Amino acid sequence: MKIILSHDVDHLYWQEHYFKDLYLFGTVFRNTKGLIKGDIDFKLYLKRLKCWGRIHRLVELSNFYGKNNIKANFFFGMSNALHLSYKYRSVTSHVNKLISEGHKVGTHGISFSNARQIDLEYRRFKEISNLNAFGIRNHYLRLNGYTHNLFDQQGYLFDSTIESIMHPFKINDMWEIPISIMDASLVVDSQLNQNLEIWKSNTLLKLEKAIKSQIPYFVINFHDPFFSEDFPVIKEWFIWLVNFFKKESYIFITFEEAVKELNGIN
Ligand SMILES: [Zn+2]
Repeated sequence: MKIILSHDVDHLYWQEHYFKDLYLFGTVFRNTKGLIKGDIDFKLYLKRLKCWGRIHRLVELSNFYGKNNIKANFFFGMSNALHLSYKYRSVTSHVNKLISEGHKVGTHGISFSNARQIDLEYRRFKEISNLNAFGIRNHYLRLNGYTHNLFDQQGYLFDSTIESIMHPFKINDMWEIPISIMDASLVVDSQLNQNLEIWKSNTLLKLEKAIKSQIPYFVINFHDPFFSEDFPVIKEWFIWLVNFFKKESYIFITFEEAVKELNGIN
């Protein structure tokens, strides 16, 4: 079993949320609730209420990967919905920098049912990345019965929107490579849960299940803003996780390399 590290880029800056959505109110509400319940302390609460400036932690993650000599997958939104509110062109420099560092990039899909909208997102990503082949993962993992067929017809190389410990499977020419662990669903109240031991033990349970199921790829979905001192426990968990895989001699690969292996071309 090999490891794929992947990141959905949902936010760049706080400013993109001021007049477009209710993300700021959601953040204040969630953390106030967490403070009252005693999940987070006042110091952390104040840190998280600083709702201006940069949200993304792409620079920090790319530095971390550079030091560890690891390549990962990053997915970028090409239209807006559900708190993803940046303009698609504003990710161009990040996309190009990550490509130049050897990482792989793809679409963080918004549409899951409208062929015209799916085509627009695909063409936008092609335009800013200059890539001919890339994959997709949908925002909020939204899928319906024919999303995979639409993605396949669009020409996507792979999808990774299903969250489940299961084998990759093919939809005509396109591979679905499911997510094994996602930060937001690994523990209850992920942004408030400060119990690192629960994060670790739930991870090891999933890993055990994956080993038993003999799946070829263990896929992590980690949201880059958590690679920050505003989320010390989630950041520490992710660093622990990568170090754990290294210590256990797991090999890190990208979805693109996994697709080549699955297609039998090495
Ligand atoms: Zn997302």
